[in-house]
Order: sequence, then structure tokens, then C-alpha cells
Amino acid sequence: MKRCIFCGKSENEFDPKNQWSIEHIIPEALGNRNLKLDCVCKRCNSGLGRYVDNHVVNSALFKLIRQRLGIRSRNGVIPNAFSKGEDQYGNKVRMDLDLNPCVVPRVTTEAVDEKTTKIHIVAATKEEAENCLRKTLARKKLKPEEQERLLAQAPNSTEEVSYVPHIRYEREMDWNRFYMEALKIGYEYAVCALGERYLEDETAREIRGVLYDAICGKFEQECPRPKQVGLFPEELQEEMAKLQFPSPVHLIGMAHTIDNGLIVLISLFGDWPFSYIVSVSKNADRYPEERSNRINVVPIAAGKTEQ
Ligand SMILES: [Zn+2]
Repeated sequence: MKRCIFCGKSENEFDPKNQWSIEHIIPEALGNRNLKLDCVCKRCNSGLGRYVDNHVVNSALFKLIRQRLGIRSRNGVIPNAFSKGEDQYGNKVRMDLDLNPCVVPRVTTEAVDEKTTKIHIVAATKEEAENCLRKTLARKKLKPEEQERLLAQAPNSTEEVSYVPHIRYEREMDWNRFYMEALKIGYEYAVCALGERYLEDETAREIRGVLYDAICGKFEQECPRPKQVGLFPEELQEEMAKLQFPSPVHLIGMAHTIDNGLIVLISLFGDWPFSYIVSVSKNADRYPEERSNRINVVPIAAGKTEQ
């Protein structure tokens, strides 16, 4: 009987709102349209999306790559890794997808004495500054004629400056989230390659336990580094660097180890910082027909998803 590869439930054990779903082994937001599974329930799928995939696909690094390659989100939007920064004068700066900076309007008020307040406005254009002033005066509940008088005075104290902004971005990276994502991809790929019998594998049980905890939100605050995942060794990184593809791809494959193990090799964007080895079995002899190694090249689709 078909069971969810995470919670182990069959369809007649699902609660009323649950159903089967399509799970992308490499997240759809990373451009994967082909490598999918249909044996994950909707509940587990959304848990994976929220607590595992989301941290990685929306990390600063992957946003940057998705922006560069034009990979759209489900809602059709190309992510903008540079949307909110701060320049050398402490102004908030917004950047569009063509990297044109634009200062976010800022209004500060300072009481000079009991009767006088100084309003200081920073904005990208004169018109925008005027609009900000208009709104600020309106909020101070001044009479309309008083507002107009002050507005008319404002251009006398306008200073136009043009400068090259040095924009800073605050970034935090939690690499353990990438390892957790690799664990998910490796497990799902093993299910895809080895079929249902893989679910009984001792390593599969261990991995499923970790991922089910993740699905339930257990690692929302702090994510551990799963012991089944490691980075590509240096020799493999060098081999990888020699591979040439006409357009960006992800690589994923399965190979044997000398000690009767099976590993899944994952190279996201074919790039070494995102290349992981997941140990998926210690009993390769349970899968006698899986003698040769396999590799899948996953094209990265830049366009909008069909769903
Ligand atoms: Zn499930």
C-alpha cells in the first residue's frame, strides 16, 4: 500500500484535509521541474517547504543566484537579494533588479524651542521630498494656509546632492540549514532510485526520524547538522570544476562506497560550496540490481512555474 515516505500514513489514515501532493526533490524555487515524487502527503510537503526548503531557497546566497539566473518564485517574481540596504550616511536604500539605487524617504523632526520645530527630509527627488513635507505638515494639524506658506518656503532650504552610495547589507548564514536540505534531497532521491523497499533500510529510518522532526518544526530555532551529510571531498570538487554545461544545471547521482554503502551526491548549481554527499545506506547488497552508479542532470528552468 502506498504510504507517505515521511509520516508513514496511507491515504485512509489521512485526516480529512490531507491528500497526496507533488514533492520536488530539489526545490522548485531552484528551477527543478523534472525530479519529483508523488508519495509525500500534503501535510509533510508543506512542513518540508516551511521548515527545510524555505531557509535555503530564501537565504541571501541562493536569492543572489536565483536573481542572477532569473529563477522566478511560485508567484512569478524574481527575488531581489539587494532590495534593502543602508548607505554610508545611514539612509535606507532600495535597489531594483537592474541595481539602480533609490533612497527611501526619511523624515526627522527636531524641536528647536517651544514654538519652532525643524523638519529634515531626505528623499530621492524634490517632488518626493515635497510630498513628504506635505504629509508631515498635514499630520501636525496646521491650518491649510499655514501649510501652504511653509511649503512655499521649503525650496529655499533644499540642498541637492549627488553621490555614489556605498551600500551595506546585513547577512547571516546558517550552513546547517543547507546540510538539512541536502539530507532531504538525498533521502528523496534514494526513495526515487531504490523504490519502496528503501523505506525499510536502517539508514532510511534514521534519516526519516530527523526529517520528520524538521517537518514538525522542531528545528525552527536551532538546526542541527545531520551526521549523514558531508561536503564533497577536494578531489571530487576538482573533477566537478572540469564539467562544462551550456546552461546552469544541478547534478544528482548515486554511487557505491568500498564498505558496502550507498551515497547520494548532490551538487546544486554544479557549484562546490553547495555540493554534498549524503550517506543513504550501509547495506548496498540489499539492492543487487543497483550495481552501477547513476547520475541525473537537472536543468534549471528560469521561467515561471506552471502551477
Ligand atoms: Zn506525510
